[in-house]
Amino acid sequence: MTLRDIIGHRRLTALIARAIDRDSLPPTLLFAGPSGVGKWAVARATAQAVNCLERVKPGATDLATDACGKCRSCDRVARGVHVDVIAVEPDDKASIKIDVIRDVLSRTSFRPFEGRKRLVLIREADTLEPASQNALLKSLEEPPPGTMFILTSAVPGALLPTVRSRCMRLRFGRLTSNEIAAALIRDHDYSDADAKQTAPIADGSIGQALALIDNDLSMFRELAMGLLRHTAGRADTQSRVQAASALHTGGSKKERTREDVAIVLRLMASMLRDLEAINAGADRAVLANPLLTGDLEALARAFSGDRARAAFGAVDRALTALERNAGTKVVAEWLAVQM
Ligand SMILES: [Zn+2]
Repeated sequence: MTLRDIIGHRRLTALIARAIDRDSLPPTLLFAGPSGVGKWAVARATAQAVNCLERVKPGATDLATDACGKCRSCDRVARGVHVDVIAVEPDDKASIKIDVIRDVLSRTSFRPFEGRKRLVLIREADTLEPASQNALLKSLEEPPPGTMFILTSAVPGALLPTVRSRCMRLRFGRLTSNEIAAALIRDHDYSDADAKQTAPIADGSIGQALALIDNDLSMFRELAMGLLRHTAGRADTQSRVQAASALHTGGSKKERTREDVAIVLRLMASMLRDLEAINAGADRAVLANPLLTGDLEALARAFSGDRARAAFGAVDRALTALERNAGTKVVAEWLAVQM
């Protein structure tokens, strides 16, 4: 995938392209940001652009330069067989062992064989064992001639400070729902309808969307809709707390996991957005939950005025609380009372 084909992260890809064009890309980069947003794809696209034999200036983008995507070098990077683009990924125990790093470093002691530069790409660099990180330090401090390092990590704080401080950090943000839907359709062959329903609850991550899209979300969807219906009726506090138990307790009276509760909350958030759109007279084609159009229309009046927006704010705060490890029961009951 070339830089111009990356979905989202336009500011970062433009920055990288400009640096490649001026031959000023720092030799040690750390791509930090949530998992599943495309950091690894950008790392590989960067390696491709650096070593492309016939770089192009893509029209209709703000990229100063990019890989052609067709030359011998681009083809090898795309197939993962370019001798000067070394990709290191965690093993099946989610760790990168010292032997692997020693082997990589021995390969960087020679000048690049066929490329302009040798790029060492390290995926989920936080899985580098401490010994592996220490072995890398000298090379990060003073990269061998012609060699560049790109580390990616969703938890850069787990890297040794000495490693972090030797890398220039680029911060990747979450993707928008539209960007996620576009990626699901273009790169993963999902239908328009599947992509649009999953994107709003994927928390800005294509990885998360892929984890959710093949699951049966109907149970979660019914739960979210049930809670909206209940709160729409302006029920008293006690019955709201009762309704909240459906959110934090599963079928066998077991507490639901934070992840499951978060899915329901993201569904509620996307439904509340739809309610706001319906109340604003928006075209039904823009709804994130097209299958629920009838149910949502029935609820729209109860959520008129500022109510949909206020409820959305409450759901958002509940999601933040879950991310900060608040208990599911506390969060569910707080939310039920707030909405
Ligand atoms: Zn090329």
